[in-house]
Amino acid sequence: MKEGSHFERFVGGSESDKRKAREKLEENKSEDLSKYELEKTPEDIETIKKTEATVNEIVTQYGGEGKPLSLDRIYVLEPDSVSKITEGRLLKGIHKILEGVVGVEKEESKLEFVGTLGHDLFHLKSYKAASIGNSAEDIRPYRSGFSMYERDFTKEAGKEKVYFGMLEEAIVAECTKKPLKRIKEKDEDLSKEYEANEKLKEWVYNFNLSEGVPKEKIEAIKEELFFVPDAEQKVEKITTEYDDEKSRQAFAAGLIARLSKDGSIGVLERYQEREKMYNLLDELVAKSEGRFKNRSEIFDEFAKANFSGNYLNIARIVESILGKGSFRKIAEDFSEN
Ligand SMILES: [Zn+2]
Repeated sequence: MKEGSHFERFVGGSESDKRKAREKLEENKSEDLSKYELEKTPEDIETIKKTEATVNEIVTQYGGEGKPLSLDRIYVLEPDSVSKITEGRLLKGIHKILEGVVGVEKEESKLEFVGTLGHDLFHLKSYKAASIGNSAEDIRPYRSGFSMYERDFTKEAGKEKVYFGMLEEAIVAECTKKPLKRIKEKDEDLSKEYEANEKLKEWVYNFNLSEGVPKEKIEAIKEELFFVPDAEQKVEKITTEYDDEKSRQAFAAGLIARLSKDGSIGVLERYQEREKMYNLLDELVAKSEGRFKNRSEIFDEFAKANFSGNYLNIARIVESILGKGSFRKIAEDFSEN
């Protein structure tokens, strides 16, 4: 597979424009990421390779191409640089559709590093189409996974309406849970950190249960990923200092609440978008008359459309359940800009 050619399709322009546009995109590098780039350590490289390979496996399972991305298109960045690059719009990780690059800030937590890298790789490896304006120089994204960009070259680049934009976010964030579970099987450090976070979550879960917090709310806690700084040390400390489970649960719940308050816990991203998607999935399951048994069955159909680029199947499913015109309505409902 040729390096950088992650666009499956070009819309608009002549054949020669399309060829030129492809060549231009293949040589693209990202200057604003290079400015903050740190040299990758051998451990970084190993982690990046494991993450990318696992993301590719999942993308391929959903009918995408899972094209390999060369190491020089994956940047390890100085802490806090993503916020500087995006003027506060994004934190920790970034992907650039046209340049075909991702950047992830160096993290203390390997789990958070892998989570952020996985997230942005899933965006980049979602189906991609570009549109060409008046010349081969004028290239904009047209499709990125489920997202479809309004084709309006009179608007400033980046200001176009993005149909289904929140749905791409939600699908990508949901997919990000998957590689973490697989990669930890192959990586001892990651596995230890993961299990420590699971332990903290379990304590918080049981504490809330004993406090009579509604079941639905606590179930959601279990589903969310935590990236608690120094999770392993914290678990060890709590286990040594408290003899009984009740006290451990109470202490852990207090600790997590405090850390959340001052923003030092990393969480799986895009809660709002995922919530919105979960509501849609639940509605589809409920009205499907038994065709879909649970969220995850119908989610898979959305993920396939995101990675293969083919809307046809999911549009048919949605319209057969929610009625004619409902797919369009979802495009609007989940749009960005
Ligand atoms: Zn994202």
